[in-house]
Amino acid sequence: MPVTDHLDITAFEAPALGEPYLLTPGPLTTAYAVKQAMLRDWGSWDGDFRALTATMRRQLLAMVGDDEGNFDCVPIQGSGSFCVEAMLGSFVPRDGKLLVLANGAYGLRAAQTMRYLGRACTLIDKGDYLPPRAADVVAALQADPAITHVLAIHCETSSGILNPVAEISQAVYGLGRKLLIDSMSAFGALPVEVGTLRYEAIVSSANKCIEGVPGFGFVIARKSELAAAEGRSHSLSLDVHAQWAAMEKTGQWRFTPPTHIVAAFVEALRLHEAEGGVVARGARYARNRDVLVAGMREAGFETLLPDEWLSPIIVTFFCPAHPNFAFDRFYGLMKDKGFIIYPGKLTVVDSFRVGCIGHMDEHVMRRVVAAAKQSLVEMGVPSAAPPALALDERARLVA
Ligand SMILES: *Cc1c(COP(=O)(O)O)cnc(C)c1O
Repeated sequence: MPVTDHLDITAFEAPALGEPYLLTPGPLTTAYAVKQAMLRDWGSWDGDFRALTATMRRQLLAMVGDDEGNFDCVPIQGSGSFCVEAMLGSFVPRDGKLLVLANGAYGLRAAQTMRYLGRACTLIDKGDYLPPRAADVVAALQADPAITHVLAIHCETSSGILNPVAEISQAVYGLGRKLLIDSMSAFGALPVEVGTLRYEAIVSSANKCIEGVPGFGFVIARKSELAAAEGRSHSLSLDVHAQWAAMEKTGQWRFTPPTHIVAAFVEALRLHEAEGGVVARGARYARNRDVLVAGMREAGFETLLPDEWLSPIIVTFFCPAHPNFAFDRFYGLMKDKGFIIYPGKLTVVDSFRVGCIGHMDEHVMRRVVAAAKQSLVEMGVPSAAPPALALDERARLVA
């Protein structure tokens, strides 16, 4: 197994020991060096680990271009949803009201979280794949002066749609409200610099575009909002203010930190920087997507979304209409060829998803396309064309 101490972007090594590539939006395929970074035990209170945590916070903050020192980064134990819950419970006041812009599972989950918190929440639900636009936001905010905060999903990972967060931010601040962003699956690959995109807090996790392993996430928030969040959280362990205050004071996490995962993440951050940061990471994923989409279309598959809304994170394809096609069989044939794909999450028509993120490049994506074509042959599916219903659905989007 090759062990590299530098990133050679022309040679993305295959996953270790015959593991399949994970074409999934996290957990995803990680570099060998990231896995290797977990082969050491750390004392959570020890100076070496505190230094690791400090480095990580600094590097994440640098990624949002906070030149004036107005923001801070607070890591939180748990998966991404824990961090979304921590953000909502800490930044939406108990007497505040949140507008959730939903167009898929993650927006709906955020609204469900607010119901658990018992805090006021209203929803714009655009269905499976229509983007929330500035005009929708303006209308909702004008109709309801009680709304204090808006939550936008940056890339809605359930369809792969890239939501227009810049125009949403302008609409939110134009009407004097505050924006929170779930950038879970986009942070690290798409720009979220505070100088060009206004928000109060943004959340992401270790196992998406930074290419770490799962186990914690982080909230990057305006310091004034962090200070104002004192005493607001519904939860001891998900209190962003308390975690921030303790970390500022002691350099330590409040409760047992996922030490190995942090060490792996710091290595992943080093590789991210060596590759060329957010711009280069985003460009590699965009090439992954372009090669994937072109190849799959050539094979007869159709994407759910028109090009304008295709993210470089994950792409949804319609399942072929041919009666010999069965997703479970297709999944198994792809896995046999070394690729784990992802079932779709649409309500109206059958679909599947292929992730473009993780430690892999366009050469891998060419092999994914070849594997998909070969799998169709093995299933006896001569055409990958989707059912007419799927194309009707999509036509509504473009209209
Ligand atoms: C991955 C993801 C989450 C968090 O999901 P977990 O399974 O809890 O890690 C939240 N929002 C979006 C948009 C995501 O892609």
